[in-house]
Amino acid sequence: MNNAPSFWPHRARAVVDLAALRANVAALRARASDGVGLMAVVKADAYGHGLLPCARTIRDAGAEWLGTATPEEAFALRADGDRGRVLCWQWTPGGPWQEALRQDIDVSAGAEWAVREIAAAARATGRTARVHLKADTGLGRGGCQPADWPDLVSSARAAERDGLLRVTGLWSHFACADEPGHPSIAAQLDVFQDALKIADEAGLEPEVRHMANSPATLTIPASHFDLVRPGLSLYGLSPSPELGVPSDFGLRPVMTLSADLALVKRVPGGHGVSYGHSHVTSGDTTLALIPLGYADGIPRHASGSGPVLVAGKWRTAAGRVAMDQFVVELGDDSAVAGEEAVLFGPGDRGEPTAEDWARAVGTIGYEIVARIGSRVPRVYTGE
Ligand SMILES: *Cc1c(COP(=O)(O)O)cnc(C)c1O
Repeated sequence: MNNAPSFWPHRARAVVDLAALRANVAALRARASDGVGLMAVVKADAYGHGLLPCARTIRDAGAEWLGTATPEEAFALRADGDRGRVLCWQWTPGGPWQEALRQDIDVSAGAEWAVREIAAAARATGRTARVHLKADTGLGRGGCQPADWPDLVSSARAAERDGLLRVTGLWSHFACADEPGHPSIAAQLDVFQDALKIADEAGLEPEVRHMANSPATLTIPASHFDLVRPGLSLYGLSPSPELGVPSDFGLRPVMTLSADLALVKRVPGGHGVSYGHSHVTSGDTTLALIPLGYADGIPRHASGSGPVLVAGKWRTAAGRVAMDQFVVELGDDSAVAGEEAVLFGPGDRGEPTAEDWARAVGTIGYEIVARIGSRVPRVYTGE
């Protein structure tokens, strides 16, 4: 591989192409309507790609905002020296609100209890909190139901008048943005418009209104408002096969997961392979051992289906994926221990993609990359 770093982890590695990440930021910006800002979602260790190197690259590429789920993720950005705008949205009662205010992090509130706790943290720290009120416009997950929205807005407005907080954002999240034409999309946009109107009438003057995740950023311009809020597409994956492949949107997958074959050996026909012998060789064959397992984030559901490029061809996980390793069958093809096996990447070298893995195991590309474990070193290229 080009640009191989001087330290090359021998067992396995997730190579993270920061040049591709930078280019994806530009591609998403080009996709966003004119004058619309970018909040890059870096939750879950930047979808498994490594929070800090990705966040630095994304900031360099011009993202005005970073979005995290947990407060700890936001604090990690600050500890790394990031001073830009950060929104953190996953809160529970008793959460570290005071620390968030001290660290100048915008916080989200989707219920009255959160406004109360934010106001208390503002009093305790002497700081004015910056709050994004979250509306449940139909997702039915986080956020405030339309029936409760006027009360949430008026509580926030009252705390604003008391100087405890400023409502800097109004926001919501889609349920089915990855299904073009799904009736819930237009319905959610209508409910969001109503929520914005109620907030406006109450005197709130948010800096940013935002709703667009990756599929909405790519395909629903009416959802862009003041900021788009993509995650997965930054990392070069398509939010769904129905929408298209990454290159349709000018995106390039950022992560390549590969491992060095730990063992290559001939076995006779009728030989069971891995735990439970769910696979039995049909004749004399060559087995190759891939030193990655479910503790590294390789789904155990990939037993018998996960694709791997070995010795120029796609092979399939033969038998069960174990905690630290799995086996592929090479038939009469030859390979040697130490040779590179590529589980997924952009596809340029004929390797499977994260989407291929998702299809093979009945999940989505999001889960494939986000679950790659901490035991797999991330190797950064394209800096
Ligand atoms: C994860 C997340 C996103 C990003 O979604 P993608 O589909 O990965 O673009 C945006 N907003 C919220 C609230 C999220 O939880």
